[in-house]
Amino acid sequence: MSFSTPLSKIKGVGPKSAEQFADAGLHTVGDLIQFLPRRHEDFSDTVAIADISPGKKTIRARCEKVATRPVRRGLRITTATLVDDSGKLQAVWFNQPYRATQLAGTEEFFFSGDFEFNYNKYQLTNPSVEKVSDMPVQTDRVLPVYRQIKGLKTQLVRKIMSELRPPMTMSPETLPESIVRGERLLSRSEALLGIHFPKTVEDIQRAKERIAFEELFQLLVASQLNKHDNAKLEGWHIPFNKDVVADFVAKLPFELTGAQRRAAWEIIQDFERQVPMNRLLQGDVGSGKTVVAGLAARQAAHHGFQTALMAPTEILASQHAETLSSLLAPFGVSVGLIMGGVKGQARKTLYEQIANGAVDVVVGTHALIQEKVQFKKLGFVAIDEQHRFGVKQRQQLLAKSEHLPHLLAMTATPIPRSLALTVYGELDVSIINELPKGRKPIDTRLWSPNSRAQLYEKIDIEIKTGRQAYVICSLIDENPDNDVKSVQEEYKKLQNSVFKHRRIGLLHGKLKSDEKEAVMAQFSSGSIDILVSTTVVEVGVDVPNATIIMIENADRFGLSQLHQLRGRVGRSSHQSYCYLVMSDSSKPSQRLKAIEKSNDGFYLAEVDLQLRGPGEIYGRSQHGALNLQIATLADTKMIARAQQAAKSFVESGEDLLQYKQLATQVKEYQRLTTLN
Ligand code: ADP
Ligand code: MG
Repeated sequence: MSFSTPLSKIKGVGPKSAEQFADAGLHTVGDLIQFLPRRHEDFSDTVAIADISPGKKTIRARCEKVATRPVRRGLRITTATLVDDSGKLQAVWFNQPYRATQLAGTEEFFFSGDFEFNYNKYQLTNPSVEKVSDMPVQTDRVLPVYRQIKGLKTQLVRKIMSELRPPMTMSPETLPESIVRGERLLSRSEALLGIHFPKTVEDIQRAKERIAFEELFQLLVASQLNKHDNAKLEGWHIPFNKDVVADFVAKLPFELTGAQRRAAWEIIQDFERQVPMNRLLQGDVGSGKTVVAGLAARQAAHHGFQTALMAPTEILASQHAETLSSLLAPFGVSVGLIMGGVKGQARKTLYEQIANGAVDVVVGTHALIQEKVQFKKLGFVAIDEQHRFGVKQRQQLLAKSEHLPHLLAMTATPIPRSLALTVYGELDVSIINELPKGRKPIDTRLWSPNSRAQLYEKIDIEIKTGRQAYVICSLIDENPDNDVKSVQEEYKKLQNSVFKHRRIGLLHGKLKSDEKEAVMAQFSSGSIDILVSTTVVEVGVDVPNATIIMIENADRFGLSQLHQLRGRVGRSSHQSYCYLVMSDSSKPSQRLKAIEKSNDGFYLAEVDLQLRGPGEIYGRSQHGALNLQIATLADTKMIARAQQAAKSFVESGEDLLQYKQLATQVKEYQRLTTLN
């Protein structure tokens, strides 16, 4: 038996179950060995029923009586009386009617679940069940629980897995020996045996440590190698001109913050290098990232280099074009805007101007990536709200230049440290950790839906003093058409009753580009008091005179989304307010409590990471293909450890190709995250 032996050749696997394995993507012995348990059940530590106390507990008992009854639509409860030599207790399962058949008879089982107070009495809730006679050996009572394979019983999977012990024992080492020794890790085969057939809880921990280390090590070696490769690339050399930059800064309507200066200086220095810049500009909402990109564009234009600035929405792109135009026009730097709404002759002319260099700075949505957009000499690419774009779009834009352009990726959704180290390890990072002078923390409150009237009063008072407001309407469901309906209804309601005496605007994604632009322009110029909108304004939109935002059904939004929406206010020295109206009067979620408490995007991102996990936050487009079965990006200690090892491994100059499996995985990661 070898790793490539088809599963159908294994004892106990019939044609039917071979097919079921295949449906789950498991074809060979090697595949199944890599199929790691999701978790383990510990049946080694049982208590007598007479001694049981609340908490997670395991008992060994027979079932005396079992019955299932329907409670209401969609809920069936199975209750059982379990007995051992010392006493009896009740167990309960929700929607697991098969338990009744499973438990009938006189066999002994292990039951493991939460012993808790439920339905007015202490019960064992939703315990997992294992037949005592199915247990492998008296001593091995920690059982692996695998992801469900359709049609296959867990017991069968375990049984077949035990047939694979011999090849598992022979598993070759996949990490460099020196690292296994240096880090005191289990060998590959020991780890596999430990995770599939643990004898104790410690066995599992040791196995997981080794596997998690390996998964992160692969990722971090890839990112180190990318960094080394990038250092060999040739980019544009854009020299620093003190007078050009000083003049730009002097003509700004405000003074740059220290953090903005530092970030700008880091960029300017990168421009001077031969190697293309690869930098992430991280700064909380409202910290003033746009002007930093503008300064860099000014320097690039001075040497005849074009800049492309890509933004995720049309609203944002046209706003950026406007902002940059007013910042750069005084220096004779021209700005063009390219997006879906720019059509016909205007578009053709723009293409020509981009190609012949008449336009210095091109702002756009992903329309920028199109083939027809050809630059004369693209030196600098800035991507705003970079987490909204996939790796591929970034690469396509960078490909529009003879040499790789300097890249600045901007984001207000801070990337937690752990993620920055792994997935984005090759990026240099500038952080704007300071808000412009005079900003006051936004006053954030959760609001009961029954007290809406008071909220409208607060909005009215703000408007009376000359400020403006956003009313954000909820996501109704997955269908954006329904969101439009909801925002339209809200708009009518406010316009016809509560805010009859105010000027109200309506904004949503289904409007035509020029309609959107017109509404935004009215709101920016102050000729609309209240903007009723969907989440199309979620990122980037900058109307400093708006100081109050009311978010309906706030509980339906994610944490970073709420933080972004809130960031639409608090953009001037006026006190700003954010009201999070809940769908009903139930208890607020942890997310909502976190956002009410803190204005700090970095802190909130860490909370979000804990609550949801990185995959959810950063989207499949960016790292859906990470092979992390055991490791988590929340484990900063393990990341730091693997990072250290990856660094010394790459620096040692050892040939990666000696380690075939490692090399394959590293190549794949490099392909996913590289720039060129
Ligand atoms: P973000 O970092 O969220 O993209 P913006 O670049 O949109 O922030 O800037 C937010 C607002 O702050 C804009 O109105 C901008 O003109 C203003 N601003 C930027 N830098 C400063 C500064 N140093 N002092 C005062 N206002 C500033
Ligand atoms: Mg912005």
